[in-house]
Amino acid sequence: MTTVITNANVFNGVDNQLQENVSLLIENNVITQIGDVDLSLASEIIDAKGGTVMPGLMDAHVHITMSAPFHELDKMTREEVAIRSAKVAEGMLMRGFTTVRDVAGNTLGLKNCIDNGYATGPRILPSQAAISQTCGHSDYRQNQAQERTGIHEDSPLMKTGAFKVADGRSEVLRAVREQLFMGASQIKMMAGGGASSTFDPLDTIQYTLNEMKAAVEAASDYGTYVAAHIHTADAMRRAAEAGVMSFEHATIMDDDIAKTIKDKGIFVIPSYFTSSLIAERKIPLGNEALYQKTERVGKAMFKSAELIKKYDIQNICFGTDCVGTLDVHKTQSEELQAIETVFDSLTALKMVTSNCGRLFEMSTYKHPYQEGKLGQITEGAYADLLIIEGNPLNGVSCVTNTETQKLIMKDGVVYKNTL
Ligand SMILES: [Zn+2]
Repeated sequence: MTTVITNANVFNGVDNQLQENVSLLIENNVITQIGDVDLSLASEIIDAKGGTVMPGLMDAHVHITMSAPFHELDKMTREEVAIRSAKVAEGMLMRGFTTVRDVAGNTLGLKNCIDNGYATGPRILPSQAAISQTCGHSDYRQNQAQERTGIHEDSPLMKTGAFKVADGRSEVLRAVREQLFMGASQIKMMAGGGASSTFDPLDTIQYTLNEMKAAVEAASDYGTYVAAHIHTADAMRRAAEAGVMSFEHATIMDDDIAKTIKDKGIFVIPSYFTSSLIAERKIPLGNEALYQKTERVGKAMFKSAELIKKYDIQNICFGTDCVGTLDVHKTQSEELQAIETVFDSLTALKMVTSNCGRLFEMSTYKHPYQEGKLGQITEGAYADLLIIEGNPLNGVSCVTNTETQKLIMKDGVVYKNTL
């Protein structure tokens, strides 16, 4: 199968200007030529009508299996969770997200179904279970905590493989290796207090340096890296020392840790849209203590954005962290607009394409998609692309608006075409 896209301008995922009036040759699932393409090669021609071809969107922080608040997920059968997850995944692809990194959830089966054509959704880089210390951010035994602590019984949600508790070097090593065994392309661990969890104050540092190093060692021996949920500067300092390479949220920075992040090339995945919602108390949480924690991180994230600018941290990626119903997951695209407001259009576009591509390459041979580049429009890249009416460099609203987002292609297959 060869497809030629004609009459296109290209945003390649990196540069601040479009490559104008070119054609793209797509052979099966890979872009093989950009420029003047011989149309006689085409079995199918798509006229972009002067629209912008850009890389498919990428989200580095999703929870596909979390289609409801945790206490509701606890009551669902596994089939229910799986079917709902498939619906969440389909929604992501139809918003233009062609690759996502799942950072807590048993997504391997869904990933396989999508890759083999039994379900519709983005490419998935699974982390499988997020690993937490006892009384850490994802020790979700909180419903009936007393009974569960007495006999060390995981909650139903933990039993689905979304979260795993491990303490001490040997348990951490085993937990990391279990996730790798289950197909994780990177490891997610909880390195400090959480805003949405009940038992761990925000300022807690979770995992000793030794335990965290154990996770990093087990991951790097398998060619990959650790991504850590983390809010405070002190927790970030310890994680940086341990060799953690992806800071999720990274909300409460100071100058010292911002410098370290820059020097070590650590990736930062903020979520400005979700932060603005929680700072304004627009997400129902149930109790005042949780509101106070979330308000604090929600406000801090915007201050940290100033440090990201001050130290010119380029390793920043788009991540949404949506947990909840389909309506919550639908807010995924709003983050692009939020980033544009905090930074600028080009930064937002790079964060949602090529920067994620670079982050995901840290999975080396554990990266599930090895045939081409992701997050770029270049020769040799996967044919994961959008055609947008308008120039996204002049404002990202044309990317998120379903009217002007004309075509969605993943792996060379067209999922939407309103050209
Ligand atoms: Zn998360």
